[in-house]
Amino acid sequence: MRVEIVAVGTELLLGQIPDTNSQWLGEHLAANGIASHFHQHVGDNHDRIVLAFRTALARSDAVIVCGGLGPTQDDITRAAIAEVMNVPLIRDEAIVEAIRKMFGSRGREMPENNLLQADVPKGASIIPQTRGTAPGLICPVGQKVVFAVPGVPYEMTDMFERAILPELLRRERLAGNESVILSRVLRTWGASESGLAEAIGDELSSLDDNSRLTIAFLASGIEGIKVRITARGDSAEHAKELIAEEEVKIRSIINAKLGEIIFGVDDETMEHAIATRLLDKGLTLGVAESVTGGLIASRLVNVIGASKWFRGGVVSYASEVKFDVLGVPVGPVVSPEAAEAMAIGAAKLLGSDVGLSVTGVAGPEEQDGHPAGTVFVGIAIGDNVSHVALRLPGDRPRIRAYSAISALDALRKALDELSK
Ligand code: ATP
Ligand code: MG
Repeated sequence: MRVEIVAVGTELLLGQIPDTNSQWLGEHLAANGIASHFHQHVGDNHDRIVLAFRTALARSDAVIVCGGLGPTQDDITRAAIAEVMNVPLIRDEAIVEAIRKMFGSRGREMPENNLLQADVPKGASIIPQTRGTAPGLICPVGQKVVFAVPGVPYEMTDMFERAILPELLRRERLAGNESVILSRVLRTWGASESGLAEAIGDELSSLDDNSRLTIAFLASGIEGIKVRITARGDSAEHAKELIAEEEVKIRSIINAKLGEIIFGVDDETMEHAIATRLLDKGLTLGVAESVTGGLIASRLVNVIGASKWFRGGVVSYASEVKFDVLGVPVGPVVSPEAAEAMAIGAAKLLGSDVGLSVTGVAGPEEQDGHPAGTVFVGIAIGDNVSHVALRLPGDRPRIRAYSAISALDALRKALDELSK
């Protein structure tokens, strides 16, 4: 069964509000193994809404419409559905009573306009409202069905879970196609989207339209690029097996062509990758931050229980603090040597096994002949001291955020080297 979502509202077309309803519905349909091939946006215009519904019904088995069920002039979803069903709207006295009661309980008179919300296309059944005023509608159109729910997100999600999902699953069972869609995200840092796409290109083209597997790239800015493997299985077990097989393939292709750029799966962030490695090895970490000004420490303490392995950090922004507090030899502070000395100093000062440091130029101006985006990361693991030189793009906030995740990524790789 294919379900199409139609989001009604001129404000969506104008970009005044983001269409989080379609996003939420897409996610929850997929999680329940229900395919959704099209989403539409349409403004508050009767003819165009009717056209959107007819288009949706021509290519999908069920349509979920959100928005335009309210009491105002621009709420015309009901009338459009009635036209598509080719039936009149009939006022439902029980709904009138329910709405009147709701206004009464809030000590207010019901405005005449609200009567419109009691109009139901003939042949449709209602999804009773529990929180708002407008009930939802279940409108059969031949073998197909249109569900209409209010645009207000919490009313929409409530009606979806209470009435629409059970009905969709019932229809799936009747049609004898139950399937489960699951996905797994591989999180990468350090490759470009095109580089990744090229590396996995052959594998991608081997998955045709009928495949049970799909692969998507999600560029997530300062969190890197995610590779999402989605599988449609006959059961959750089956979907998991399909994903596991594909994951092995994708990982080996990426590792062979781009190196060890996968740092986590699903919700695992870079700081989780660091936490796992330090805990594994029984090591503690201290940081010294110049250009990131505390961003790294702030990321690290996102991890619950970070005090087991994170000692703390120094924001050594002024050069004197690098010299006086961290013992960096007096000299240029944007240099590989300074970064290494900061890492050693941080570990010593904070009593940690590992020291991590960042020094560089956040911009916009250049500094000591280094252009904005020049960043050095220092890593000290016992006597093993190293640095990584980076040239990062973007404005000041971006350079700082990129510096933080790049430094953590450099540490991740250095910790992995230890176990080799
Ligand atoms: P109401 O009874 O409140 O008028 P309605 O069914 O008429 O409900 P709309 O008027 O279309 O719904 O939208 C009500 C509010 O819900 C909007 O102002 C907006 O804040 C939110 N909303 C509507 N559509 C969406 C959407 N697709 N995604 C997220 N929010 C939405
Ligand atoms: Mg409205």
